Amino acid sequence: MRMLQHPFFDDKKILVIDQSKKITNDRTWCFWEKEPGIFEPIIHHQWQYANFFSDVYSSILDLSPYQYKMIHGIDLYSYVKQASASRTNIEWRYAIVKSVNSNTDRANVELETESFTADYIFNSILFEQPKTPKGKYYLQQHFKGWVIETKEPHFDPALATFMDFRVSQKHGTTFIYLMPTSSTCALVEYTLFTEALLEKEEYETALKDYISSYLHITDYKIVQEEFGVIPMTNMQFPLQEGRVIYTGIAGGQAKGSSGYVFQFIQKRTGQIIESLVTGNQLSIQKTWNDKKFHLYDSVLLNVLHSRKMHGDEIFSRIFQKNPPRRVLRFLDNESNLYEDLQIMRSVPSGIFLTAALQELIR
Ligand SMILES: Cc1cc2nc3c(=O)[nH]c(=O)nc-3n(C[C@H](O)[C@H](O)[C@H](O)COP(=O)(O)OP(=O)(O)OC[C@H]3O[C@@H](n4cnc5c(N)ncnc54)[C@H](O)[C@@H]3O)c2cc1C
Repeated sequence: MRMLQHPFFDDKKILVIDQSKKITNDRTWCFWEKEPGIFEPIIHHQWQYANFFSDVYSSILDLSPYQYKMIHGIDLYSYVKQASASRTNIEWRYAIVKSVNSNTDRANVELETESFTADYIFNSILFEQPKTPKGKYYLQQHFKGWVIETKEPHFDPALATFMDFRVSQKHGTTFIYLMPTSSTCALVEYTLFTEALLEKEEYETALKDYISSYLHITDYKIVQEEFGVIPMTNMQFPLQEGRVIYTGIAGGQAKGSSGYVFQFIQKRTGQIIESLVTGNQLSIQKTWNDKKFHLYDSVLLNVLHSRKMHGDEIFSRIFQKNPPRRVLRFLDNESNLYEDLQIMRSVPSGIFLTAALQELIR
């Protein structure tokens, strides 16, 4: 989308290859931002207020200056396709990519029956599940979501639930997201940060329990479902191999400690475009800020992995002791050192300093 909006790319030949035609609503993206972004025309719903619940702390968070926003996957796919439909320099090809590689001058993509070369390839395909090196952590954020509709009004569409930790924590860090888009419709999502996935029925039982025990709803219809698994890891993913640039989850853009990806993809894409437009050789490097947040993510993963402290307690302390905007800036990798220190002061120094030292000497 960003390429489509920049005149620099008007005369560049762009080939988009995907094995899927992207005609189903296979996911819902939620993220926060301060200013209207490039996807503003397709925002499905937004919230300024969100509940936080746990057994030790509950509050209504005022997220301003941020808005928590929701986009339907199908709307994003259609929006991008529509915007590119009238452009003769953009071609779509639905095919399976077998491999990508690069030499010094050109990048090459191999499909099953043909291949192409280009100045650059932007690859978001994770060709195989990466092996976790010794000393690194690999948790999975896995979730099952239902969009439910009720006959009677049950929801406040102005109030989302960012995290509800009151559900059982027996598998590890576990919470519910609740995103009401009207008084009778909401996305309710059961989310875990653990090593292993659950059986399908366990997600469904947990959703049913939550809907009846906490939302007190017995009569509802499931109108849509989604399931996802996002890596939460401090292992390094490739950023770039010559003229192949890795993006998305394949480029390590799932935040290790939260699993949020959407806005990190937008930021990286913005940086790539800036670099191409200004005529610089495209070189994706980790900045000092990236390294700082990578360390913080490693520390949190260390604590969660070793179960020295549970996720519900960590997030409760953080939200109890900090204004939501500081927490959101921190989760966005945008907080400054003063704000980082305030967040760190919210959690027990004994546990977190030990974990930090372990990560620093690894
Ligand atoms: C259900 C769900 C909900 C999510 N919700 C959120 C959220 O609320 N907030 C958030 O920050 N993140 C969320 N995420 C995580 C993340 O934002 C998404 O997974 C996002 O789509 C990742 O982008 P990506 O480009 O890495 O991968 P994808 O969007 O999966 O894109 C990869 C593309 O590669 C194609 N492909 C794969 N293999 C091949 C092949 N061999 N040949 C050709 N094409 C291939 C696929 O068809 C796909 O279109 C969610 C993920 C899921 C699954």
